[in-house]
Amino acid sequence: MEGSKAQRDFKAGDIIMRQGDKGDYAYIIEEGLVEILIERPDSAPQQVGTRGAGTIIGEMAIVDDAPRTATVKALEDCKMLAISRDDFSQRLKSSDPVIQMISQVILTRYRDTLTRVEILGSSGNHPPAEAIERGYAAQSDVVESVKIANEFKTAIENGDLELHYQPIVDLSNGRVKGFEALMRWTHATEGFISPGIFIPIAEKSGIIVEASKWAVKEACAALNRIETALGNTGEMYMSVNFSSHDFATHGFVDGLKGAIKNGGIRPEQLILEITERLLIQQPDNAKETLQKCREQGIGIAIDDFGTGYSSLSYLYYFPINILKVDQSFVRSLFLDDKSLELVKSIIGLGKNMDLRIIAEGVENREEAHLLTEIGCDTAQGYYFARPMPEDQVIETLSSWKADKLTA
Ligand code: C2E
Ligand code: CA
Ligand code: CA
Repeated sequence: MEGSKAQRDFKAGDIIMRQGDKGDYAYIIEEGLVEILIERPDSAPQQVGTRGAGTIIGEMAIVDDAPRTATVKALEDCKMLAISRDDFSQRLKSSDPVIQMISQVILTRYRDTLTRVEILGSSGNHPPAEAIERGYAAQSDVVESVKIANEFKTAIENGDLELHYQPIVDLSNGRVKGFEALMRWTHATEGFISPGIFIPIAEKSGIIVEASKWAVKEACAALNRIETALGNTGEMYMSVNFSSHDFATHGFVDGLKGAIKNGGIRPEQLILEITERLLIQQPDNAKETLQKCREQGIGIAIDDFGTGYSSLSYLYYFPINILKVDQSFVRSLFLDDKSLELVKSIIGLGKNMDLRIIAEGVENREEAHLLTEIGCDTAQGYYFARPMPEDQVIETLSSWKADKLTA
């Protein structure tokens, strides 16, 4: 038994693990020195190496529960940090699928090599490495996700992405105050792919950064073109979605400034939409980055507000000026009293903290009326308009009737 504590101490001469025993832990040596011994039936144990502080031993135990391939003995008093197979697989599961699969494959190949050179003295009892590797790929949907990620990258390069713009409406007078830019990808053979599918993959693999750079440039320029076509420049805003990867990129704020300048709009006309999750994960210097944006005049909206996190303290910590009430609350406004109370509290909170409120996913007249009644400023949703390509936005807004709220 190797015990279950994360921190383990061994005395000089102790056997830390024995060849042939089942292993559940790998160890990082914090202090001390160990020797690695291979035992053969017909000869004395043979030292094949030593390991000191900062190295890892018994790492195969985090792949499977096959027997230890060597004995490890402390040459000095040692302090070790134990990593269990469960802990490792937990960490692996929460990592990028490509990292997951490559790590598992490397470890499996290592095990396979060990078996082949017959250090074990017998062929062992392991399934073929190829079968195990296929299993890893199947478990994590890695093939599909790498395929989509690669094709998405090509789509950015080929200009196959498009933005659609959904109007955001002032509930006090029914006029359009701005738009949310939503990404659309029409795949050459697969057709329309929902952002609900490609955005999470693009985020996990980091490709989202390229897409976001393109999106913000395109959205700023489109706002200028839309306003010019409608003859009311400088009044409407454009809200663009960002992920935590975007925030971690060097020169993020300069990129925004460039998009604003080249697009020919004012910084006050750009709003960044970020989720609570992004702020809680706190990419390095998120606060500083947001502060810099606010100093430029760029707006910061919390997307899907109310779905991600129970503590509200971050609202004080980060320089936020808009809350977007998640569509799940709007959807259940008439279904349960709790949702109504919750939306009322969000609106109250917003007023107290001087934040603007946008309700998302308004689908009918009743929801629009109720939201207006309880003091919500602005809303977007299919009831007012769906996300549309630029030319359709211009056409729709040229004949926009601000009568949806009096209807
Ligand atoms: P989101 O940011 O919450 O965007 C709102 C989603 O609600 C959009 O879905 C929009 O089409 C949909 N919607 C708007 N009004 C209504 C309504 O009345 N009823 C219902 N049922 N839905 C409505 P979409 O376009 O499929 O986008 C899904 C998600 O993908 C977005 O959710 C956002 O998280 C992400 N996304 C889209 N474009 C981008 C982008 O350019 N960058 C990033 N990072 N994420 C994006
Ligand atoms: Ca959004
Ligand atoms: Ca949202």
